[in-house]
Order: sequence, then structure tokens, then C-alpha cells
Amino acid sequence: MSSQNELHVLIIGAGLGGLVLAQALRKQGISFEVHEKTSDSRFQGWAIGIHSIINDLLEHLPSDMPPVDLTDIFLPLSLPAQMIFYGNNELEPRYGVQDAGTKAVIRCNRQRLRSWLATNIHINFGNAATTVEEISGNQVRVKFENGSSAVGDIVVGADGVNSAIRQQLVQPDPVHVLPIATVVGEVVLSGKEFEKQLELGYSGYVAHDANSQDEGSGRIFVGLNSVNADGKSGNYYWSVNYIDPTASKLPHWTAEASKAERYQLALEKTSHLKPEFTEIIRQTGIEGMSDVQMCLRELELRDLPAGRVTLLGDAAHCMMPFRGEGGVQAMRDALYLSKAITLVGKSGTDNSKMTHFMREYQNEMLSRGSKSVRLSRDEWTKVSKGGRSSWGTKRSIIPFEKVTLNDIPFKLAR
Ligand SMILES: Cc1cc2nc3c(=O)[nH]c(=O)nc-3n(C[C@H](O)[C@H](O)[C@H](O)COP(=O)(O)OP(=O)(O)OC[C@H]3O[C@@H](n4cnc5c(N)ncnc54)[C@H](O)[C@@H]3O)c2cc1C
Repeated sequence: MSSQNELHVLIIGAGLGGLVLAQALRKQGISFEVHEKTSDSRFQGWAIGIHSIINDLLEHLPSDMPPVDLTDIFLPLSLPAQMIFYGNNELEPRYGVQDAGTKAVIRCNRQRLRSWLATNIHINFGNAATTVEEISGNQVRVKFENGSSAVGDIVVGADGVNSAIRQQLVQPDPVHVLPIATVVGEVVLSGKEFEKQLELGYSGYVAHDANSQDEGSGRIFVGLNSVNADGKSGNYYWSVNYIDPTASKLPHWTAEASKAERYQLALEKTSHLKPEFTEIIRQTGIEGMSDVQMCLRELELRDLPAGRVTLLGDAAHCMMPFRGEGGVQAMRDALYLSKAITLVGKSGTDNSKMTHFMREYQNEMLSRGSKSVRLSRDEWTKVSKGGRSSWGTKRSIIPFEKVTLNDIPFKLAR
């Protein structure tokens, strides 16, 4: 039987959830290794709203972490996180969510968030897990594609929606691709064009005609990813989503389409929206069409065997991104799991105690995750109405405010 100091945890996947778990274990003095499939330079995706967990994170992560504000998309400018939901209707007020100056929401640049979470963590890059097996002495071995392997007392599949660890635990794999196609563009905007986008929503906005009868008519999401050092220009990305039954079978035809075809598709699917919401597509032009392929997946797990191998985050509950909470749920899983692992460490690593604490963790995680999957699905149908939630808060009316770049204060990270 191992003592807490001897307990060794293998974390598979250095995404948001895996790294939060690593940090929480580091704070508890519990031994761990992190194995990540890709290389350090992998594109991490665009911005992400972190909310309703920031205080918990700061409390449970080690005190040597740099200020979390360093992850903010607005740096070097100082603006509150704000997302607006437009209904394409002149008469409808602007509904949205906004940080009230309390840092309850931080709109993070993912690259910066990943670096922040990786503070003082050694990541074994290039280790793609393939299989996991129980071996003698109450231990578990993970094998990697490159022929290497690792042994520990607990294995955590934090390896995202296509989790290799989940595929060992649950057959047939319950993840499914949604019938929603996506095209993406990226553009740098400065001066008046930058101001205009900030006016539509500081962090970003969604525009969608909820009354449109045409299933193929799309919605646009526009997001700021970062601000350039002089504070005069912003790096934007946008996506157009539309219902397409053929999108649930991969690859979708857009994967092979030219940039010009994808550009035309984006314009066509948003032609019913007011021009101000689609101006950014025209500013992007054909050249700015991104080759990143995005497909939306869903995963709702009802049950998971409790033992030395468990899951967290998208590996256990993957959801549509329209409530902006999959990452927050992954981080919450990681904090709760770190508590369960601490209890295992204190009571020894024999199988019955292990099973008890892991089952408790999994029951809570799966029920919270499933609820979040269903709520996120609901967001797809009604975008603009108040009374709905995003970033963990109810949307409310946020009046229009003129933005002048020269008036936005510069901020040093706290
Ligand atoms: C467009 C979009 C916008 C979103 N916006 C928000 C938002 O505003 N707020 C929010 O909370 N959430 C948001 N989400 C959801 C959020 O991105 C995910 O829920 C979150 O990234 C899940 O974290 P994770 O750690 O579980 O998985 P991931 O972040 O996917 O990390 C998994 C890691 O495991 C690695 N890996 C995969 N397979 C293996 C293997 N076999 N071996 C080793 N490593 C492996 C991967 O390379 C990756 O680094 C959004 C999602 C999308 C698509």
C-alpha cells in the first residue's frame, strides 16, 4: 500500500483540464507525469471565456503562478470581457454578458492560458497514449504510440474529445459529430474598423436570426483573439455555422474546398443578416479564410467504470460551444478530481478505497457534465433572447457604447 507521497498519477493530455489537475496536484505535493500527444508549438485555438471558477482556481493552484490577467485577450488595453448576442432585429435590445469589473470573467487568449497553466510543469510532448492496462501490484501502465510507456497508481484521460483512454473504457465510443458545418476566417483590423468591432462587443458577438425559417441560414460568431502591442489593432477570428446534415459524416466537403469557395459560402449563409454583422467577412477576404477545420461534437456519458483509470473534461462530456463552458467544466473536473486523489492518497491505494473515491468523483462529474451538454445544446436554437445564460451568468441588456481607441486605458497586468 502506498502512502500519499508514493502515489503517482499519469495525466494524459496537456489541455486545460490536464494542466489544472497537474497544478492542483503540484500544490498538494502529489507525484504526477503529464503526457501530451502534440508538440509544444501546436496551435491552441482562439479565445476562451473563463468564468465562475477563477477564485477556486486561484485558491487551488500553487502560489508561484504569475498573475492570471496575463492571459487576457485585451492586453495591453484595459477592457472588460463582454459578449453580445444579436437577434438581427432593430427592435430587440442588445442582450449580452459582461464582466462587472470584478474579474468574474476573463476572456483569455488560449496560447497565453496554456502557458500560464504550464507554469513549472514538465510536459512530455510527443507521447500519444494508445492503450492502458492494469498490471500487478495495483498499478496501471499506459503505452504510447512511440513505443515508450509509463506506470502509475492512477491514470487520468484528459485527452479531449477523441480520448484514447475513453475508448479503452467505453465501447462503442458514444461521441457523435453534429450536423453543423463551420467555416472560419481571420483578419487584423485597425483604427476605425477595430473600433467598430469593439462597439459590436468588446470580446465578441454572435448574430443570428432566430426567426429564420431556412435551416441552412447560418449564424456568425466574431471574436477578438489578441490586441497588438501598440494597442491600435486587433487580431480577429470569426466562424459561420449552419445546419447541414452531411456535416455529421467526416470529412465535410468544405475540407477539400478552396478558400474562395469557403468565402462565398460564408457570405451566402449569412446573407440574411444585417450587413454590419457580416462586414468582417468582407474585410477578411478570400486570403483570410482559415484552413482550420472545425467540426462540432457531442458526448454525454451516463456511466463509467470506477477504478484506477478515470476521465475529465471533453474526454467525458463534450458540448456545443454556444454557452462557453466546456473548458470551465474541464477545469472544475480537475479541481474535484484533485480532491478525490488527495483522499485516495491519505487512505492508501488499495482497490476498494480507490473505487469509492473515484466513483464519488465520477458521479458528480458525469451528472454536471451531462447537464452542461444539454444546456449547451439548447443555446443553439435561441440565440438572442434575454433570460438565457452564457459564461455562467444570465444575459442582460447591455446598451451600445461608442468606442474610441485613444480613450481606452492601457493596463499593466496585476
Ligand atoms: C469554438 C469553441 C469555443 C469555445 N469557447 C469556450 C469558452 O468560451 N469557454 C469555455 O469554458 N469553453 C469553451 N470551449 C470548450 C473548450 O475549448 C473545451 O471544453 C476544453 O478545451 C476542454 O478541455 P480538455 O482539457 O478536456 O481538452 P482539450 O483542451 O482538448 O485538451 C486535450 C489535450 O489532450 C491531448 N491529447 C489528445 N489525444 C491524446 C493522446 N492520445 N495522448 C496524449 N495526449 C492527447 C490534446 O493534444 C490536447 O492537448 C469552446 C470550444 C470551441 C470548439
